[in-house]
Order: sequence, then structure tokens, then C-alpha cells
Amino acid sequence: MSLADRFTTKTCGVLGCGADAEVVIDHPEHGERTVCGSCAADFEVVRDV
Ligand SMILES: [Zn+2]
Repeated sequence: MSLADRFTTKTCGVLGCGADAEVVIDHPEHGERTVCGSCAADFEVVRDV
């Protein structure tokens, strides 16, 4: 894996998930988090990754 890949390939920020990140949410306690589509369902989506 190149250094560029490490910056462009993100995984879901939810502990224990590990799926590919798809969107950024506005978490009420943690602020902006990058998460996968299924984990974003309960929160307000700020933008796509
Ligand atoms: Zn997830």
C-alpha cells in the first residue's frame, strides 16, 4: 500500500465496524466523524467522503 492510498482509503470511524467510509456525520458528542453508510443512518450527514 502506498502512502497515497493510506490517505484516500478510509474506514468507518465506529469502533468494531471497519467498513469503508462513505460519509461524514455530525455526531452530537464527538463532532464530525467519517463513517460508513449504515452507521450514518442514525446521524445527520454533513457531506460525502
Ligand atoms: Zn460503520
